Formats: sequence, C-alpha cells, structure tokens
Amino acid sequence: MAVTDYESVPAVERASRSPGLVVMKFGGTSVGDTERLKRVAARCVAAGDAGNRVVAVVSAMGKTTDDLIRLAHEISEHPAPRELDMLASVGERISCALVAMAIIDLGHKATSLTGSQAGIVTDSTHTKAKIVEVRAHRIHEALDRGEIVLVAGFQGVSGESQDVTTLGRGGSDTTAVALAAALGADACEIFTDVRGVYTADPRVVPSARKLDEVSHEEMLEMAASGAGVMATRSVEVARSHNVSLHVRSSFEDGDGTWIREEEARMLEKALISAVVHRLEEPVYRVSGVEPARLFGALAEAAVNVDTIVLTGPEIVFSAPVEDKADARRTLDALDADWSAREDLGKVSVIGAGMKSHPGVAAKTFATLEREGIAPAVVSTSPIKIACHVRTDQVDRAVQALHEAFELG
Ligand code: ADP
Ligand code: ASP
Ligand code: MG
Repeated sequence: MAVTDYESVPAVERASRSPGLVVMKFGGTSVGDTERLKRVAARCVAAGDAGNRVVAVVSAMGKTTDDLIRLAHEISEHPAPRELDMLASVGERISCALVAMAIIDLGHKATSLTGSQAGIVTDSTHTKAKIVEVRAHRIHEALDRGEIVLVAGFQGVSGESQDVTTLGRGGSDTTAVALAAALGADACEIFTDVRGVYTADPRVVPSARKLDEVSHEEMLEMAASGAGVMATRSVEVARSHNVSLHVRSSFEDGDGTWIREEEARMLEKALISAVVHRLEEPVYRVSGVEPARLFGALAEAAVNVDTIVLTGPEIVFSAPVEDKADARRTLDALDADWSAREDLGKVSVIGAGMKSHPGVAAKTFATLEREGIAPAVVSTSPIKIACHVRTDQVDRAVQALHEAFELG
C-alpha cells in the first residue's frame, strides 16, 4: 500500500516558528522508576536553564499501561471502551505529576496537565482516538509564567462528548509531535531506551546499525510496518506539518536519529534503509461480500486494514493483531464466508532507493527461499516490499534479509 494511502492527518494548525521552544518526550522505560523520573526532571531543568521554553510529554511508568489493561480484562471480558480510556489514561497522569514535583524540588517552576487540560481535542473513537485540534492556550499561559509544562501523553478529550480518550498504543509520541506542530517548536526530541532508529529492531538483530537520518516517508513506512520505536500516527503528523524529530537515548548523550523532510542532499539514498517486522499480523480471506461493503464496515469498526489483495472474487486483507476482535465481529456481522490465518507475522524491506533500483524483490525472494521460508502474502509500495511469513520464521527472515542487504 502506498504511503499516500494512509489515513488523513489531524488538522492541527502548524504555528509559526517559536524560537527556543522545545518539546521533549520521555517513553515508559525512561520514566520507569523514581530515579529515572528524577533524571527526566533534571534534563527538563537543564533545557530550561539553557534558555529554552520547555514542554515535556511523558509516558506511563514502565509497563503501567499493560498492567491497567490487564486489570480491565480481569474484570470484564469486553471492557467498555469509554471506561478503558478512563483507566488507561491514568498511567501518564501519574508520571507527569511526579516529574513536576521533582522539577519543583530542583527549584524550577513546573505544572502538569492532563491531555484534556493541555487542549488535546480528539474525535470520539475510544482507545484509538485521533487528534483533531490542539487548543494550547493553557500551555502558553504556563510557559509565559516561566513554568516547565508537563503534559500527560497518550490522551485527549473528545470534542463531542467531553469524555477522556486515548490515542492508541505508543500514543505519547503523537501527543509530543502534535504539540511540537501546534506550538511551532524548534524540534521534537523523542527520548527512548535505544540510541535512535536502527536498520532493524536491535532486540532481533544485534548487529543492527543506528541510522543518522531517515526521511519522514521512510519512517512512516517503517512505523506502519512494525518498527515500534515511533507510533505511526505521530510520523504522519510530523510529515504533514514538517516537524523534525530527533530520536535519542534517555540514558546516553550523543546524537540519535533525525527524522526529517527528504532533502536534495539525501538524494544519494541508501538502497535499503531497514528491515522491520511484526511478529503477528493476521491475514483474512473473505468471499461472498462486495469489497466496498466489506471495507466500509471495517472502517466503521475502526479496523486499520493494511495489505489488501484482490485478484478475483476472494478478498484477502491483513489488519493489526490489536484489531482482531473488531475484525472478527465485523466479518461475522456481514454474514460473509471468511477464514483467518493467525499464525503469520510480516517482514518488510524498506528503502527510498528502491524506487530507482531494480532487483530488490529478486534478492528478497532469493534470500527467503534460501532460508526455506515461503511468504503467504506479498505486497509492495514504491519504497517497501512486505512479506507475510509464519510467526516462528519472522526473526530468521529479518536476520537473513538484514545480512543480504548488508545493513550491519
Ligand atoms: P518508548 O517507551 O520510549 O516509547 P518503545 O518501546 O515504544 O519506547 O520503542 C523503543 C523500542 O522500539 C526499542 O527498545 C526497540 O526494541 C524497538 N524497535 C523496534 N524496531 C526498532 C528500530 N528499527 N530501531 C530502533 N528501535 C526499534
Ligand atoms: N503508555 C502508552 C502505551 O504504553 C502510551 C505510550 O507509551 O506512548 O502504549
Ligand atoms: Mg513508544
């Protein structure tokens, strides 16, 4: 599926440049315990002391969000989505209040805000709401008072119902990028537990290399194909509002990876930039229903359809494993004939250079064949070749392709 096929982007107004304003985002590991929360506070204060106006977006501590969601499922088989958002949004409130306390102890002024207080207005799609507007006046007022502003990531408020919403897993990235766009920040710094964006998930390929720079377009394909280091929606917002992102380590100094608009000097692109994967991505086969009706119903159920293959009356599509229950319910309601393969994951080879270089598909297939791996579904975009393979073969496919394209 081409990059241009992704969902449209929130109508956040990109403010004009606001010199000396930085948005810093700290992920779950970076705020995993009290020592780390204090370190985040010290980093915010240092950025303030260096003359910046500082807005920091924080994730929930460690695995807090997972724990909250597990708790909900212990209470109810199908937790009500509105209540799930009430619950899941709590994790980020805890960490932003704690960081604010630590900053105040360091002698600096600070205020924590929930997503709602920070003016993150969303649609009403609970558990994967989209930001429709940022009303940042409270942030501006706090900055004008000389305060460091802590914003709880991953959450907003529905403009329609006024209920608390969450932005989907990894959604603190989206909060940070949307704020950077709305405030006209110089840059959006994403502090995480790796040194940047790598040529493959370093947990799977130890020899993976940190990239100095990737274009918004490549990062969007990488994120959408499973590179969990940035939430897909956040990269969409960055691309459409031309926000440069700097993904870097919370624990070490030094440059990370810059994600920014492709520039002329990047024209001599690497053929392949990365091999990314998802361990699970179910593939559905459907017959007896028209495509328009099927995809209309899936969109209505907020199922994020990825690959679509249509060569005859049968429709084949994939969708994220998180959307499995919604996809199944939708297919049952359509009264269609359908089956699902839930033993598949996906490996994607991504690189802007493949637009102008033939032979990437040949090498991809030859490599998988040598490993005895037969892809079940293959799909492409101008800068991506994606292969659904068995989940138990995903790691081996990633390692073999990473080596074949000499990315280490
Ligand atoms: P945070 O809590 O800071 O948001 P995440 O866990 O969401 O952190 O994202 C960082 C993780 O993303 C890394 O620990 C790494 O395992 C994973 N990851 C997957 N693919 C990549 C990649 N291509 N480059 C870097 N990290 C990746
Ligand atoms: N805490 C949320 C999650 O775990 C959001 C985030 O970390 O970005 O998905
Ligand atoms: Mg994340």
